[in-house]
Amino acid sequence: MMDRKFKFSFPERNVQDSIVFSMVSEFKIEPSILRAAIDDDGCGVLILRLRGDDELIEKALRYAEDQDVEIDELGDHIMRDEQRCFSCGACVSVCPTKAFTLDPETFKVNLNIEKCVACGSCLSACSAHAVTLTL
Ligand code: SF4
Ligand code: SF4
Repeated sequence: MMDRKFKFSFPERNVQDSIVFSMVSEFKIEPSILRAAIDDDGCGVLILRLRGDDELIEKALRYAEDQDVEIDELGDHIMRDEQRCFSCGACVSVCPTKAFTLDPETFKVNLNIEKCVACGSCLSACSAHAVTLTL
């Protein structure tokens, strides 16, 4: 059983539901929607966690790509420049998933990439421009 996260970019919003439904019904994978949004250019964006057999996940991804969905896998999609970061905590307060947390003992801000859903809130909050999103 694999557990992977992806960004799906849809050219039109109205295809989201049927594609995700088909991924569940045809490929027996379990999707969890971590974030749904509309980009500045009007594209629909879903951040999905997919659980299931890796081969079936790959087939589901190919199916979605055939429906003109652009897919990026989340992994090292967010980076923090340790030299720039001065642990001010601004990102901690805006991060909806607690990917950024403040260590109460060291007062150092830590980043757990696994929890990040690529919302981008921390980018504008960080006055040091220490955070980079590559999606
Ligand atoms: S907002 Fe920027 S400088 Fe402040 S803790 Fe977060 S990453 Fe570091
Ligand atoms: S992009 Fe930044 S604010 Fe958004 S979930 Fe990831 S770490 Fe948190």
